[in-house]
Amino acid sequence: MSNRFLQKGQHSLIAQAQDLSSCNTLRLQCQAEQVVDLQSLEQMNELGRELVRAPECLVLGGGSNVILPITLSSLVVRVALKGIELVESTADHWLIDVAAGENWHDWVVTATARGWWGLENLALIPGTVGAAPVQNIGAYGVELCQRLESVTAWHVAAQKYVTLSRAECDFGYRDSIFKRAKRGEWLIVSVRFALPKAWQPVLTYPDLAGHPQLALVSQAVTAQAVLEAVCDIRRRKLPDPAVLGNAGSFFKNPVVSALQYQALQARFAKLVAYPQPEGSFKLAAGWLIEYCGFKGLRSGAVGVHAQQALVLVNYGHAQADELLAFASTIREAVQKTFGVLLEIEPVVV
Ligand SMILES: Cc1cc2nc3c(=O)[nH]c(=O)nc-3n(C[C@H](O)[C@H](O)[C@H](O)COP(=O)(O)OP(=O)(O)OC[C@H]3O[C@@H](n4cnc5c(N)ncnc54)[C@H](O)[C@@H]3O)c2cc1C
Repeated sequence: MSNRFLQKGQHSLIAQAQDLSSCNTLRLQCQAEQVVDLQSLEQMNELGRELVRAPECLVLGGGSNVILPITLSSLVVRVALKGIELVESTADHWLIDVAAGENWHDWVVTATARGWWGLENLALIPGTVGAAPVQNIGAYGVELCQRLESVTAWHVAAQKYVTLSRAECDFGYRDSIFKRAKRGEWLIVSVRFALPKAWQPVLTYPDLAGHPQLALVSQAVTAQAVLEAVCDIRRRKLPDPAVLGNAGSFFKNPVVSALQYQALQARFAKLVAYPQPEGSFKLAAGWLIEYCGFKGLRSGAVGVHAQQALVLVNYGHAQADELLAFASTIREAVQKTFGVLLEIEPVVV
């Protein structure tokens, strides 16, 4: 099925049916009926007019944080907007605009090489720049919101661009206004970064602080050395989606009150948890799953990774239903054992 959305001749954008099985890192089987590739802002103006008539449109970046269904009839917009521009050099910061379709890791490598430091802890996270604010990506002690000035997005209902400040994005742990919005409400076109001129390495994670590459240079740690150490740790710890389908952490680490944490700790002495600034505790979801006996367990075409209990994997030709049924089994076991409900991190489409 082709040209169902925008007709050839009248428009430059043409919707085509497409197999998205290799466009999501979980490698779930998915046939989409209408897919358009957005490559320029001129096309965005044209697409913007049409999107109001495309309910539940799915904006797709690198597909590394989505659980796609076997068939998708709603319009899919694949964002391929490119560009990196230094817009201002203030006394304290470099302000840089990056288009939504840029590859996240490539951008981190570019920024580090140009002396725009502060993103190195977020190296090797798969996906696009435009998706990064959606779940406020974070790793090794740094969250995107600490380095972001604003986000410019097309608001579908209002049919116009809106620039949202960091505060307006309402970021939280793996959360933002974009993640909570109804599907297809926002299409992020660019992100403005504010990278500090007075750079300090963030080495709060023991894995990173103790990495030989950093320990060797101890006093003179560079952003490049941090980037390389992060890549090294991630390559050793996480399965490569090109080899084994996965979406990174499948569940969020649940946050519980101090009271609930103490009650759990009294029952499970080895419970792994991280105190939060406001007094609550973030439990390591991977530990809860491992305790329930799921680490390395396989069920049909899906399973829990043998080294990382937080990562669910697709061994072959799995579909979303099979993966979600397996995830439900894990959630039920964790809830029964600990009284804690795990929340799925990727977006279930
Ligand atoms: C091996 C692996 C490791 C990972 N490690 C981490 C990690 O350390 N930290 C972390 O936070 N995440 C991690 N992730 C998750 C994932 O990489 C991030 O969430 C990433 O930002 C998703 O980018 P994407 O382009 O693939 O988004 P997609 O999966 O394509 O989309 C994710 C969501 O964002 C929306 N979206 C995408 N682009 C846009 C846009 N331009 N405008 C509006 N909405 C949009 C989609 O509609 C969807 O709801 C990991 C994933 C994998 C596979």
